[in-house]
Amino acid sequence: MHVPVICFEPFENESASSLLVRAASRLSPIPGIVIRHFLGDAEAVASAVHRHEAIKIVADGLGLEPTVIEQAMVPRLGKHLGLGPFIVRMEDVDQTRRRVCPAVLRNDARHGREPYQRLNWLIRVLRFDPDTGEPIVDRCGCGNDLLWYRTVRIDECPACGSLLWDSAMTEETPEDAEAVHFLNWLFSGNAARRREARASLPQALAGWSEADLLEFFETLGFFSEPEVLMRMPRPDIEVWLRAVGIHAALGGTGSIRELVARAFDDPPADADRFWPTRRMAFANAAINRCRSPRARDFLSAQMRSFV
Ligand SMILES: [Zn+2]
Repeated sequence: MHVPVICFEPFENESASSLLVRAASRLSPIPGIVIRHFLGDAEAVASAVHRHEAIKIVADGLGLEPTVIEQAMVPRLGKHLGLGPFIVRMEDVDQTRRRVCPAVLRNDARHGREPYQRLNWLIRVLRFDPDTGEPIVDRCGCGNDLLWYRTVRIDECPACGSLLWDSAMTEETPEDAEAVHFLNWLFSGNAARRREARASLPQALAGWSEADLLEFFETLGFFSEPEVLMRMPRPDIEVWLRAVGIHAALGGTGSIRELVARAFDDPPADADRFWPTRRMAFANAAINRCRSPRARDFLSAQMRSFV
């Protein structure tokens, strides 16, 4: 049997899921068969970025060095994930749906490149492509989610078949523009921009991993209204928490301290006598719940400095 030799080199910063979809679609009219061969399950393509045990079979199958496949993946680093030059929290990587930036995909097509998913689009806190500022979507204008297992082309909606840049999309202007801009530069593909984002932070934080920084921003955000925010489900408020924390951090150590000092606020006129105790308890609970030891220590030290 004649087996065509096709080069499936990943593009720059391409995710392993994207690479496998492109390869499988090229090799077979039923891409699921190829995916099943590599990953044991025809619908498992979303998991490709995590499937380290499959590196060898994928590399052999595509005629590539295993290290090339590895670079397209998201390795586990202790309690965190490595993603290109970044270290992020487990929950920061979202593969439940295909997250893509239609404007960048359109640009690929215009330049005669096959459209592909960039690895940093997997980072859930990014709602915009860091390098162009264009929106990242995980749903088509037709209302259907972009599901990995149904994906044949990275730039197409599997439900309605339209090209993602053609399907209707709302061009939202983010309310948290400052946080969006900071995160875009922190996770930029351009090292100079990443350095600039870090240089805008207080010195004490500038060398922290992305995972520590995100956890720090979100924990700091709780201090704006600890007793209210600590009672709300975190997924509902995390964008807002992050924006508040980033705003304070960009304001310098003084702004961070101002926010932490809210744990020691005087009670409002109509408050009961337990108000200060309650506020302090919620502020301490926010710190205790913080999943970054580094951020926890930093915030605890700030708290102690007021006593
Ligand atoms: Zn659609």
